[in-house]
Amino acid sequence: MQRIEHIYINGEFVTPHGQEWFDLYNPSTEAVIGQVRLGDEQDARRAIAAAQAVFPAWSRTTREERIEALRRMHRAIVAREDDLMEAIVTEYGAPSVRSRWMTEYPAQTIAQAIDALDSFEFEERAGAAHVVMTPVGVAGLITPWNSNAGFICNKLATALAAGCTAVIKPSEMSAMQTQIVAEALHEAGLPPGVFNIVNGRGDMVGEEIARNPGIAKISFTGSSAVGQHLLSAGSATMKRVTLELGGKSPTVVLDDADFGAVMPLVLGAGFLNSGQACIAGTRILVPRHRLAEFEQIAREAVAHVKSGDPREADTDIGPMVSHRQWERVQNYIRIGIEEGAALLAGGEGRPDGLQAGWFVKPTIFTNANNRMRIAREEIFGPVLTIIPYSDDAEAIAIANDTNYGLSAIVLGKDIKRCERVARQIDAGRVLVNTLAHEPRAPFGGFKYSGLGREMGKWGIGAYLEPKTLMVASGQVQ
Ligand code: NAD
Repeated sequence: MQRIEHIYINGEFVTPHGQEWFDLYNPSTEAVIGQVRLGDEQDARRAIAAAQAVFPAWSRTTREERIEALRRMHRAIVAREDDLMEAIVTEYGAPSVRSRWMTEYPAQTIAQAIDALDSFEFEERAGAAHVVMTPVGVAGLITPWNSNAGFICNKLATALAAGCTAVIKPSEMSAMQTQIVAEALHEAGLPPGVFNIVNGRGDMVGEEIARNPGIAKISFTGSSAVGQHLLSAGSATMKRVTLELGGKSPTVVLDDADFGAVMPLVLGAGFLNSGQACIAGTRILVPRHRLAEFEQIAREAVAHVKSGDPREADTDIGPMVSHRQWERVQNYIRIGIEEGAALLAGGEGRPDGLQAGWFVKPTIFTNANNRMRIAREEIFGPVLTIIPYSDDAEAIAIANDTNYGLSAIVLGKDIKRCERVARQIDAGRVLVNTLAHEPRAPFGGFKYSGLGREMGKWGIGAYLEPKTLMVASGQVQ
């Protein structure tokens, strides 16, 4: 039983003012495996004050000094990857392939911030003026449970690269990952106060970050509902806001596709991160005249997808993160049945042979339409919906008929045609015949999927404001 008692403020692990203890679970067994003591508003204010105090000094550091600090962070995180992997499997239940990726991703995000900082143009000319990109102040960084360590490292590395200091409010459900990241970052020896980490509830620590005038910018990854709330709450103190929110991403299978060849991509995208991925391809758009063929190949392929113990090497889908999340997914499966969609695979309840753990059967609905709730709402579990279409124009229309716009996939043989379709889909990123991730490219969404972009120069730019500097003509600048 792990007890995590401290939060991290001004370069030290300290006991929070908050008194509440929060249970941590192993979602594969449903057992309580630890407890974390949560901070409160007072702790958040203390962390914000520490970040404010050091901001003037950090914002004036040189590019070289920041790169050196980020390199130390990178080394420190890499050194703790084995511990991080154990925490991700135990506390979150990611299956082995995914947990390996999630373990290495935090260091990769720091590396991309170093790359972006190395070539970032902080100063440029605009006519007679000089434009100086200026860090906005203290950033409040709020992360979800579905890749907590990666989101902490990405947001923090980018904020620090820009010259901002930070207060991090990680997901309260991922405290074991947070603890390892905090210990590693402490080892990196950054100036006290440059980053602070306050475990706590969204409605306490998160709300304090949202309303405190000492926070100049919020970078949030999580649900669209909380993102919308932060946008309006932050407006009272005119905060800059970057939001990475939910998705209902389309996988468009064109009618020249080899269904057998593309099926691993279809299922890989849909069941990504046990279905608990904002970018999961959960709406599968299939040409109507080849629907029966697609269904047959999908049925055969999904029979080999294993949902179960994340520690077994052949497991593809691990448990849902919490009982609440399991109930939510089960409820959506019931909704799909009530709406009249046909079950091609899976359904309610645990996979055969599993009595405990928040496991879900890999589930595929077919013969659905895009008006159904299972086609419109983010389920955040391994539940996919096949929607037939007649021609490319209708496929594009269905793909775009959604409140979301985070990601999309186009699959087909004719690459020019795939690209034509891809360019017409309203999403922050569209992949053609691949699931590859490019960490140097901008990431974010259209519509309710978010606001602004992370990664690369676009990510750093989101923590800066341009300042125009004009010197009287004739005088040297
Ligand atoms: P969530 O919105 O419930 O919580 C996210 C974070 O916000 C947590 O740290 C939580 O404590 C905090 N929070 C909750 N209420 C708050 C408030 N009133 N003020 C401030 N902070 C508050 O989301 P979740 O359930 O942890 O994560 C799942 C969601 O995240 C899904 O909708 C998923 O699509 C989204 N997500 C998006 C991306 C992306 O990059 N676009 C990536 C991963 C997850």
